[in-house]
Amino acid sequence: MKEVLERAYEEGLKYTDQGQVATYIPELAKEDPTKVAIAAYDQDGSYYEKGEVDQRFSIQSVSKVITYILCLEEIPAGKIQKAIGVKPTALPFNSVLDLELGGGKPRNPLVNAGAIAATALLYEKFGDQTFDKVLDKIRDLAEDPDIVLDENIYNSERSSAFTNFALFNLMVSRGNLSEDIPIQKVADAYFKACSVLVNVKDLARIGYVLANDGFDKISGQEKFSKEIARRVRTVMAMGGMYDYCGEFAQLIGLPAKSGVGGGIMTASKEGLAIATYCPGLDDHGNSFVGIKMLEAMAQELEFSIY
Ligand code: GLU
Repeated sequence: MKEVLERAYEEGLKYTDQGQVATYIPELAKEDPTKVAIAAYDQDGSYYEKGEVDQRFSIQSVSKVITYILCLEEIPAGKIQKAIGVKPTALPFNSVLDLELGGGKPRNPLVNAGAIAATALLYEKFGDQTFDKVLDKIRDLAEDPDIVLDENIYNSERSSAFTNFALFNLMVSRGNLSEDIPIQKVADAYFKACSVLVNVKDLARIGYVLANDGFDKISGQEKFSKEIARRVRTVMAMGGMYDYCGEFAQLIGLPAKSGVGGGIMTASKEGLAIATYCPGLDDHGNSFVGIKMLEAMAQELEFSIY
């Protein structure tokens, strides 16, 4: 495993000039696309890492997994099903058209509209504590108390969120979100969740919990139920890699979630979790180098769940 991971890392380094850092959130344009990291837990709980594993970056859309876990724990299932679909992602992660085609119901919880709707459900229950709940959950799952919000990224997201507000307004106008919902407050909780700083070790650790059906083998604690783990891995497989999910399923074959900050978190069903980081993105919004590293590992280890 150690050698496979190191070979994958070397392979990834060949592509650091291929991806483009996200620029639609101005603060993300400052990220360094030569920073590369990979971390993994295997089935027997051994941990491996290579590269800039302490480098912090914004979790971005990987936070949608944690928001969804929290929703499944805290909100009645029927209410979630009514508000958010569990369909595969076909169009870009922030597509207004996709939402419109669904009559204002987000396709799944791992695209922007779906995560905004999930945040709105949490807001109904937790009000202004919503972001703190998500942050606590990220810290708890990663067992990392040093995870904090990056205020600069948050402010940058906030001031450039025209498309996200379009999604928000469309959901209200189609009746999928209540007119009484305080849009700015829910949006702030969503932007903050995206702007939390993690490293690749944190993502590997969260992936490892998902890959063990919600049980954290390292701390010996059950973090969430097996049923929640199964549901979350399912939407990751279908919607976690933006409109590249089908190709990713064939090439790599693991439930995964990526974020425009450059992180990718994967979780098999059998206790294998690999996380990667490199902020240069491909046309879908996935880390270019991250995909290359995962591809290299998949070829050697044949860990596809399909
Ligand atoms: N904060 C980003 C947004 O709302 C998240 C996108 C992503 O990582 O896919 O656009």
